[in-house]
Amino acid sequence: MDIFKIVIPTPFPVGDVNAFLVKGDALTLFDVGPKTEEAYEALKWGIRSAGYDMKDIEQVVLTHHHPDHAGWVDAFSHAEILGHAYIDHWMKKTPEFLQYHETFYARQLREGGVPENYIQKVLKVKGEIELFGSIPLTGYLKEGDEVPGHKGLMVYETLGHGQSHLIFLEEGTRECIGGDLLLERTSSNPLIEPPVDLSMERPKSLLQYNASLQRLKALNVSKLYTGHGGEITEIGDLVDDRLERQKQRALKVYDLLVKPQTNFELTAQLFERLYHQQLGLTLSETLGQLDYLIDNEMIEANMRDGVIYYSRL
Ligand SMILES: [Zn+2]
Repeated sequence: MDIFKIVIPTPFPVGDVNAFLVKGDALTLFDVGPKTEEAYEALKWGIRSAGYDMKDIEQVVLTHHHPDHAGWVDAFSHAEILGHAYIDHWMKKTPEFLQYHETFYARQLREGGVPENYIQKVLKVKGEIELFGSIPLTGYLKEGDEVPGHKGLMVYETLGHGQSHLIFLEEGTRECIGGDLLLERTSSNPLIEPPVDLSMERPKSLLQYNASLQRLKALNVSKLYTGHGGEITEIGDLVDDRLERQKQRALKVYDLLVKPQTNFELTAQLFERLYHQQLGLTLSETLGQLDYLIDNEMIEANMRDGVIYYSRL
């Protein structure tokens, strides 16, 4: 792959994000960084040092919709913008979608046993949605597609970290642009997100994510270009390591379940200090472990007065 890496600063705890400029029959930029001034400068400078100009970019392809990856689509209104169809909800931000989004999260939080004052606090963070780009996609990519202008660069749907997550594998070289599916130094958080069909049915993000990791392992990738940090070549070993650590975290949740408890109660014990500041993130993490334990038939979930209680089997 004729690929050039551009490192872009972000205001998020994750640190820098990577974009990749790929020259094929088309000149395509994979991911565009967050919509900040600093990111714009880094993007412009990066494209220049590869010998091109912003206006030369013919296509933008997004690995997923998160704001650290999909913010600056707004700088490429002249280009084709491609990605998973789900991304369009976040770009268009219609009043209907924003209302649905709030209803979805409020319901998840109430079912998780989160006190009402905390619920309002979490819903307010939705201000972050302003950091998303605002240009609708010009086309959709899905499982099995070939990226236009890049022969043999195939699309694989790998949901979990996000409900729009795609990776792009070059058939011949087995080189892959992997977004946040597998990162060099940190484990990706499988966030709670509204489902692709915009129903009230919550996707089991961690189970999706584990399946996507297994899928990646089976793809025989020679080099993975990641969304944050360096490239990865020993994929199988790292996937095994991540899955094992995740299992250990789930067993920690199991240990706490000496009596039936809610997600909120468990999260407050697991993340004593962090849960106040990062409630959405920590609740997502615990819920993932609960889904995993249910999937492994170790615990069960029972709804009482609109709140879900988890207990050992
Ligand atoms: Zn990211």
